Amino acid sequence: MKLARDPHTWSKPNEARVKHLEWNAEVNFATHTIAAVALYTIENLTGTDTIIFDTKGLSISEVLVDDVPVSVTISPDKAYIGSALSVPIQKNSKDVMITYTTSPDAEALLWVDGDKPFLFSQSQAILARTWVPCQDSPGVRITYNARVKVPQGLMALMSAENPQSVSADGTYTFKMDQPIPSYLMALAVGDVQFRPIGDRTGVYAIPSLIEAAANEFSDMQAMVDAAEKLYGPYVWGRYDLLVLPPAFPFGGMENPKLTFATPTIIAGDKSLVSLVAHELAHSWSGNLVTNSTWDDFWLNEGFTVYFEQRIMEAVYGRERAEMLAQLSRQDLDATLAEISASAHPEDTRLKLALEGRSPDDGMTDIAYNKGYFFLRLIEETAGRDKFDAFIKSYFNTHKFQVMDTERFLEYLRANLVTPEMERQINIQAWVYGEGLPANAPVVQSNELQKVDEMRMAWEKGEMKNEQLPWASWSYQERYRFISNFSEAVAANQMKTLDAQFEISATGNNEVLFAWLEQAIRKNYTPAYDELEKFLTSVGRRKFVAPLYEAMVATNQMPLAKSIYAKARPGYHAVTVGTVDELLK
Ligand SMILES: [Zn+2]
Repeated sequence: MKLARDPHTWSKPNEARVKHLEWNAEVNFATHTIAAVALYTIENLTGTDTIIFDTKGLSISEVLVDDVPVSVTISPDKAYIGSALSVPIQKNSKDVMITYTTSPDAEALLWVDGDKPFLFSQSQAILARTWVPCQDSPGVRITYNARVKVPQGLMALMSAENPQSVSADGTYTFKMDQPIPSYLMALAVGDVQFRPIGDRTGVYAIPSLIEAAANEFSDMQAMVDAAEKLYGPYVWGRYDLLVLPPAFPFGGMENPKLTFATPTIIAGDKSLVSLVAHELAHSWSGNLVTNSTWDDFWLNEGFTVYFEQRIMEAVYGRERAEMLAQLSRQDLDATLAEISASAHPEDTRLKLALEGRSPDDGMTDIAYNKGYFFLRLIEETAGRDKFDAFIKSYFNTHKFQVMDTERFLEYLRANLVTPEMERQINIQAWVYGEGLPANAPVVQSNELQKVDEMRMAWEKGEMKNEQLPWASWSYQERYRFISNFSEAVAANQMKTLDAQFEISATGNNEVLFAWLEQAIRKNYTPAYDELEKFLTSVGRRKFVAPLYEAMVATNQMPLAKSIYAKARPGYHAVTVGTVDELLK
C-alpha cells in the first residue's frame, strides 16, 4: 500500500522499505550506551538506488548490504527529525546491516543510576531513531527478533514475547512476529519481577512494588474480557504491564504486549486504573489501526479515550465512567482556552498540520478529549448498537494498516453516517474547525454536580470543613472539589482543609497534583516542601508541566528555577523539552 507523505521522516518508504529487523544489542550502564547491530530485511519497491533510515545521534561504525561493506552518507542533524542515513542498494538487494552505538544523550532512553539501575525507552512520537536506525514513520511496520545482553541479575523486557524470570547470564531473546511501527519499539532493563494476574495477563515491577502492583491491577483480566466483548478479539497474545520508575514522562505507553506505566497510578484502591483501560484500548486503536502521520494523532487517541470509557463503564459502571468524562471535559476546556490564546490556535483542530514543528506539539488534550467527544456525538446520533458494530468492523477491516482522517471520514460516511446525520453532527466543524462546536455531548455526572454545589456553599461559608463528606468521596470527587477552587479561596482556607483532611499527605497522585497546583496559585507555602519532593521524584509531564507553569504564572520563577535545577537531571527528554520551554 502506498503511504502518505510524512513530514517527520527522512525515509522514502514508497521507494524502498524495511520489513523485518534482527536486533542484537548490549546494554552498558557504565557508559549509558547501547552497542548494537541492526540487520534489516528490505524491499526495493521501485528499483531505487538508495534506502533511507532515520537516525539521531547514533555513531555508526559500519554498514553492509548483503554482507558487502558500502559507503553511506549521513545528513547534518536537523531540528526534531535528526539525520538521514542513505545506504546505496541494488534492485535486488535483500538486507542492510548497521553496526552502531547510541549516544549517552539518546532522547528516547532514560538511565536511572543506583545499585539497582534501570533503563527504559519512550519512542513515541519520533524518538525510536535515537536508539535504533529505522524508517521512523507510523505507516512503516516491521516484525522483529532481538537478542539483548544486560548486566547479570537484571531483567530485559521489550514490546515482544517476554521472559518471566531473570536469565542466569543476562542474555534475553525476544520475538515480535506481528508487524508494528517503530514508535512501538520498546526496551526496559531493571531489577523487576513478574506476577501473573489472569491466564493472559500479568505485571512486572521492582520487588518493593510487585505486591502493590498486583493488587492495584487485579482487574486487568476483566478489562481484557470487557474490551474483547466490545470490539473483537485481542490479537497480541499476552497483555502484561510494566511499572516503571517515577521518572517515566507519561502515564502509560501502549507498547504491544507490554504496557509501560507510571507508578503514580498505584493509589492502593484501584482508583486510577482507567489508565490501564486506556493503554489496553490502544491494542486496537493505534497498535492495530495506526494514525498515518502525527497530523492524524486524534485517530489514535480520540478512539482510545472513547474505548477506555466504554471499558470503564463495562467493568465499573456508568456513574464512574461519567465522572471520568466530566473531568475530561474540564481538562479539555482548560486546554482549549490555553491553545486558543497561543501562537497556534489552529492546534485546536482535530486534523493537525505539524510540518516543520515537533510532533510532540500535537500531543494535547485536543486529540484525546475533543476526539472523544466527537466520537461520542457520533455514537449518540447514530445509536450505540449501530456505532459499536461500526467500530468493530472498522478495527477488523483496517487491522495492521494505517488510517488518515480523510479515509476515516470516507469510511464513516459509507458505513454509518447518513447525510442527515452529518448535518446534525457537523463533521466539518469538528474535524477541520477550531474550538469546540456547540453541539458537544453533555456529560451528566450527578455526583460531581453535588460536589460543585458543596464547593460553592463552602466557599461562601455556608458549609463548614467538617460538613464536607471528604472521607466518603472518591478521588474524582476530591479532584473536582480542589481543582475548581475560585479566585476567592485563600491560603488560610487551604490550611484549615489540610489540617482537617491531611490533603498534603494524600497517597493519590491526581489529588495531590491538584492540591499542589492550588497551593502554588494561592501561595499556600506549607505545601512547598511536598511540592519540591513531588517535582524531584515524579517526572510525569502531565503533572510536572502545569506545576511549573503555575509558578511562572504567579511570579515565583526563582522557586521554579531552584526546584528545576535539582529535578532536571532525573527527568526524561520529553519532560525536559517541555519544562525548558516553560522556564526559558
Ligand atoms: Zn493514549
